[in-house]
Amino acid sequence: MRELITYQQRAAFKQRVHDWSQKLDVEVVWLGIRPMKRKWASCSTNGHINFNSELLQQDHKFQDYVIVHELLHLRVPNHGKLWKSLMRAHLGEWDGMERGMNGKPVSAAKALQSTSS
Ligand SMILES: [Zn+2]
Repeated sequence: MRELITYQQRAAFKQRVHDWSQKLDVEVVWLGIRPMKRKWASCSTNGHINFNSELLQQDHKFQDYVIVHELLHLRVPNHGKLWKSLMRAHLGEWDGMERGMNGKPVSAAKALQSTSS
């Protein structure tokens, strides 16, 4: 198993996020890739998203799931009906994809915090 993440992998992943952000019409202000122990990504409503560097070694289907999951939080800061219907519109059958991925949640809806200040 390869542990190192190459420059090409990072560039390809960033391109993937960029493509999705255009498709979903959201603006990513900051995109970070760093190791995280307990989740796959984190985001805030000001457009800052960080992805777990381990994600770059997962298959593309799961990468897309995490990317779209987070990008949609820039528009919908929860997992309500609207968010779910957008997920289905862009990913098709995504239900259950979050389970079985090392038990890590995708993110802990950080977006909610920034509205309370
Ligand atoms: Zn979420």
